[in-house]
Amino acid sequence: MLDRCLGAGRVRQIHRFFRYAKATCLCLVMTVVVLRWTMGAGKFGTPEQDFNEIREHFVHRTRAGAHRVLEEVEYTSDASNFNNYGTFDISKIAVDEEPDDFERDPSMPYTLGPKISDWDEQRADWLKENPNFPNFLGPNKPRVLLVTGSSPKPCENPVGDHYLLKSIKNKVDYCRLHGIEVFYNMALLDAEMTGFWAKLPLIRKLLLSHPEVEFLWWMDSDAMFTDMAFEVPWERYKDHNFVLHGWDWMIYDHKNWIGLNTGSFLIRNCQWSLDLLDTWAPMGPKGNTRIEAGKLLTKELKDRPVFEADDQSAMVYILASQKEKWADKVYLENSYYLHGYWGILVDRYEEMIENYMPGLGDQRWPLVTHFVGCKPCGKFGDYSVERCFKQMDRAFNFGDNQILQMYGFTHKTLSSRRVKRIRNETGNPLEVKDELGLLHPAFRAVHV
Ligand code: UDP
Ligand code: MN
Repeated sequence: MLDRCLGAGRVRQIHRFFRYAKATCLCLVMTVVVLRWTMGAGKFGTPEQDFNEIREHFVHRTRAGAHRVLEEVEYTSDASNFNNYGTFDISKIAVDEEPDDFERDPSMPYTLGPKISDWDEQRADWLKENPNFPNFLGPNKPRVLLVTGSSPKPCENPVGDHYLLKSIKNKVDYCRLHGIEVFYNMALLDAEMTGFWAKLPLIRKLLLSHPEVEFLWWMDSDAMFTDMAFEVPWERYKDHNFVLHGWDWMIYDHKNWIGLNTGSFLIRNCQWSLDLLDTWAPMGPKGNTRIEAGKLLTKELKDRPVFEADDQSAMVYILASQKEKWADKVYLENSYYLHGYWGILVDRYEEMIENYMPGLGDQRWPLVTHFVGCKPCGKFGDYSVERCFKQMDRAFNFGDNQILQMYGFTHKTLSSRRVKRIRNETGNPLEVKDELGLLHPAFRAVHV
């Protein structure tokens, strides 16, 4: 009957199933017996207790296993996250990052600080009372403070900080050779004066705190010394208070916004300079003031693009519109590169090495190469990032070679971080003369 209903093959399958099922049941019983035996037969009173214990045994083992796996995962993620600088988020350790609530009453004009009108007298008195802090280190050698800085935050890209380091190393080298002190600022002294305007409150603060400093030299973080041997012709500026790279005709005749550059300038410690800073600052406060001032500057200055007020345009505007007031104490220097635009210099370094020597400071061997517009610490610049970084490396190495030669080394090429020897070591090190005489240059000598 079954054969007929299901077919002979199907019936054979069913028989086979029951045969296997019997064997499986036998195995199950044997397993329980063995388990009970290994865990202590008769230890637990009832089959239910047995069952619970067996269940616990397995569940516990699985839990323990899971725990261990979890620990391992945590341990490895500890190692890969807690110890990993590559994935660390710097904002985790930043406290008080919110801007201060304080807002200046917009009807009150912005000032850098209390009005000072007798700084020349105050400073002269101080210098008389402190003869151990003279403002001149020698005849025609003023005491100079080089001031530079960068934002309090890390750069928007990690490589930017590496270039800030190269840039300050470069400045330290030049300043050590030339007997110039260095101040590196990372604090925003005035919340309203952000970005390129941050230098103004800083410069005023340093002039007032260091009456012994005769000239303050502001230099942007994206500018590097490329002539380590060039000494500024201080004597030339004895009747001037403000020295910038630029051209009189471009400022006074054309009001050209790139007629001067505020990335590297000298400012004398005197009342005139404080007055200039007071005149310079009002376009600086961020927000509406800066935006509106930017519109005025773009309207008034030649070729200026549309953007918020910047310190350079503001200075061009002040000099062009108040020439009688300021011009006679402003020296627009172009006989050497107090600031040198990188675009016209960096591709010529090899040619310079071929034909000239450090110490010239001009187009033959520029004192400063300034990477205007590269914004190496920012997110976006005006030029290709690759070209900026590559050329900053070349500028750095070009300057660094002049330092390394003193010790018998040079970079393998201008693009190479690696160095090679340029002379053999000797048992009479003091007899070795460095090629450029930079180990003990005259301009560094102290007059006692
Ligand atoms: N700077 C600063 N603090 C800041 C931002 C900028 O001291 O928070 C300085 C920094 O030295 C920088 C300079 O301001 O080099 C001017 O900006 P930048 O060089 O980017 O302007 P550019 O020369 O490209 O016009
Ligand atoms: Mn700059």
